Parts: sequence; C-alpha cells; structure tokens
Amino acid sequence: DQLISQIAAGEVVERPSAVVKELLENALDAGATQITVRLEEGGVKRIAITDNGRGIPPEQMPLALARHATSKIASLDDLENVGTLGFRGEALASIASVAAVTLTSRTADAAHAWEIVGSHNGTVAPSSGAQGTTVDVQDLYFNTPARRKFLKSEQTEFGHCAEVVRRIALARPDVSFSLSHNGRTIDHWNVSEMAKRSAHILGEGFAEARLPIDESAGPLRLHGYTGLPTASKARADGQFFYVNGRFVRDKVLVHAVKAAYQDVLHGDRFPSYVLALDLDPALVDVNVHPSKIEVRFRDSRAVHQFVFHAVQRALAQTSA
Ligand code: ADP
Ligand code: MG
Repeated sequence: DQLISQIAAGEVVERPSAVVKELLENALDAGATQITVRLEEGGVKRIAITDNGRGIPPEQMPLALARHATSKIASLDDLENVGTLGFRGEALASIASVAAVTLTSRTADAAHAWEIVGSHNGTVAPSSGAQGTTVDVQDLYFNTPARRKFLKSEQTEFGHCAEVVRRIALARPDVSFSLSHNGRTIDHWNVSEMAKRSAHILGEGFAEARLPIDESAGPLRLHGYTGLPTASKARADGQFFYVNGRFVRDKVLVHAVKAAYQDVLHGDRFPSYVLALDLDPALVDVNVHPSKIEVRFRDSRAVHQFVFHAVQRALAQTSA
C-alpha cells in the first residue's frame, strides 16, 4: 500500500511546485478567499498552505488523507462535468506518502480546530486556529532519496513554486494570495479585479499595452487581455492561458494565438497574454494527465478557429 502510494506520488507530486499546485487547488475548491503560502528551502523543507475555506469536519480528516477519497465526485456523471479543480482524491494521500504531513482544519460550526498527523491512520486531536485549513508538508521525499536526487537547486525549485502561485493567482483576482520563502515575503496580492491583478503579475509594461477581449460563440467564450506587439517578449514567459479556470499549456491554443499575431509580430518575439477560454465541460477533457496542464478538446478545429479569430479581431482594432 505504502509502495503503491509512493509510486503514484511520483506522478502527482514530481517536485515541490506540484505539491503547491495541488494544495492551492484544494484551497480554492474549499471556497477560500485568502490563501497564504509559506515555503522553506525551495519547498523541500516545508510547504505550508493556509486557507480560510470551509474546512474539513474532524470525522472526515482521515478520509481526506486516504487514497481515492474525494468529497467532490459522487457519481460517474459528475466526472463528465467536474466543476472543481480536484476530483481524483489522490493528491493528499500521495503527498502524505512521501512527506510528513500535518492537516489542521476548522469548519464554521466547530468549537475549535482539529489536526491529524501523518497518514489516514493517524489520530485526530483537538488543535487551535481560525476557520479554514492548513496543510503543512515537511521534508518532501525524505523516504524516497532517489526522487530527492532529481530535485534542482533551492532557487530553481522555489522559482517553479512561485510560478505556480502566479498562474493560479492570475486566474483568481477575487482571492488574496501571499507567498513567502524562508521567512521573507516575496509576493502579496490583495483581492482585486483581473485588470489590476494582471498588471501586478505581468508588470506595468503589459498593463499599458494590452487589448481587452471578450467574445462568445455558441458554447465558447474567450475573455482576458492580449498584449500589443510592443508588449511582446524574447521569452515565452508572459503567456497565460486558462481553460475553465485551469492554467493549461495546449498546442492548439498556443498555435491559434501565435497565428493571430503572424502579421503584426516579427522575428523571434512572443506575444504576452492572459486569456481564459470557458466552455461546456462536456466539450473538453481535462483528465489527460494528473498534472492537468494538458487538455483535449472534443472539437479542436472549432476551438482553434474561434480563438484565432477573436485574437485577430482584437489586434485589428488597433491598426484600424
Ligand atoms: P481531491 O481534491 O481530488 O478531492 P485531494 O487528495 O486533493 O483530492 O483531497 C481530498 C479531500 O480532502 C478533498 O476532496 C476535500 O474534501 C478535502 N480537502 C483537501 N484540502 C482541503 C482544504 N484546503 N479545505 C477543505 N477540504 C479539503
Ligand atoms: Mg485536490
């Protein structure tokens, strides 16, 4: 059981940033509006994420750490229409098999918080704290040294974690985020709107040279901002695409945007953008890979066409 968990953990949590992503998604699924991420030594020593979400009742805390236990899917029909970010019920179990995990949580109607240490076999004991959940992950891969060897430097691992926080924060301006590393505050974003959040995260250069997009066609809606050619970069690090709220890196979408810029962007420049595609969940499969950064569209030609034309039209307005 332990071995199976550790193997599965390799898929779900290949490095600290994958842990950060899973914990942030859980916090958002719990309706949090305030999330604090504390990292030590690139996340390898410690990843502690605190949210003010609905919390976990004490009797469900062991279940939260058990394999294939999710509170988010009740039937196979639900699987077609996942509205939450998580639904496999394996993240916490996987993380707990390769790190020391303490889960502390308090629901709105509880008199105090509760905590459970280690695995689903651990005992639930009274604790203290406000409503919400803290997942404290320490000494990642302490029991799987081979995997630990694959980790890069502290700064590199931290960089990946910070990128994950940025991607998620960009999609959720209605939630405040703070990020610290080794006790130092690195980022803090208050609750705001997309216009401000994206200016904070992509920089003022982007804020001053971006075009708003909001187009719908049938079951598809594309909204967000696409940068003017002057906001383009020599590196593709200003490209944020979301499908139904999830950050994705998808060939079809990247290509559609690139093609729309073909006539206005020359040389080896990359456009900057923050774009969100919303569509009927039945038209997209987000289940392709556990890291869920890839998607598969039922009709990728239609999606390509739609995104291409929407971005092209936005760009055409400036030259008109
Ligand atoms: P999944 O997200 O796929 O359901 P996880 O292993 O990530 O699986 O989490 C297991 C369960 O633990 C969730 O279904 C949820 O009920 C509970 N849970 C985890 N993190 C939180 C949190 N931050 N707030 C409230 N509930 C949580
Ligand atoms: Mg989850």
